[in-house]
Amino acid sequence: MADDLSVANAARVSFARRKDELDEADEGLIRFLMRDRHGTPFEHNAFRYHIRCPIFVAREWMRHRIGSFNEFSMRYARATDDFYVPAAEDVRSQVGKPGAYTFEAVDAELAESTRAELQAVYEHAYEVYERLVEQGVAREVARAALPVGAYTEFYWTVNARSLMNFVSLRAAETAQREIRRYAEAVEQLFAREMPVTHAAFVANGRVSP
Ligand SMILES: Cc1cc2nc3c(=O)[nH]c(=O)nc-3n(C[C@H](O)[C@H](O)[C@H](O)COP(=O)(O)OP(=O)(O)OC[C@H]3O[C@@H](n4cnc5c(N)ncnc54)[C@H](O)[C@@H]3O)c2cc1C
Repeated sequence: MADDLSVANAARVSFARRKDELDEADEGLIRFLMRDRHGTPFEHNAFRYHIRCPIFVAREWMRHRIGSFNEFSMRYARATDDFYVPAAEDVRSQVGKPGAYTFEAVDAELAESTRAELQAVYEHAYEVYERLVEQGVAREVARAALPVGAYTEFYWTVNARSLMNFVSLRAAETAQREIRRYAEAVEQLFAREMPVTHAAFVANGRVSP
């Protein structure tokens, strides 16, 4: 539900003009709008994503207020036994101080024991959850046993301006690795559907207008 033409037409309505096909002048206009931070013409489009991610990633994601969310409900449906166990190379240490952390690989033994400990906690948590539900405890109460590594799913509908803000912050080096991977995937669809806008965003230092 998005294309570059919608940006040019939204800007050109100021002069009561509209085109059916994008041309070079429109591409220049999009670059100008991005550079001079005329942000509103980038709002007349929508991307809808169906995301499956751990709850701790979803919590970061849902801080982005300009967009719409609908999420899987653990009140109405039974939780799945799907949990995030990082790959060994993603088990990392945190070095430095707030604002300037670096994340460095840990040795193979610690990586494997971390993975095993997380797996054990998940299995125990899910066992408690299932038992409580079977004993008649409401799902909305039993879910308190589940950790933030549990997977959730949601729909996210967002316009290009807010999407650029998300990508700018969450595909950055400073973002947590797990959400960064999602942000990179999100950006691929954006680049495919709005290539001129995406190129202008990159040329403008990856800052949302
Ligand atoms: C690396 C990183 C670390 C973070 N650490 C923390 C943390 O420790 N604690 C924490 O609480 N959050 C943290 N956050 C979340 C961050 O503070 C933002 O809530 C989140 O990135 C959403 O950004 P946003 O407000 O720009 O996006 P959106 O909510 O989508 O808003 C988009 C834009 O709309 C405008 N806008 C939206 N709402 C308002 C408003 N109420 N008033 C004025 N303008 C508004 C702003 O221009 C904003 O940039 C972190 C984010 C990142 C990327």
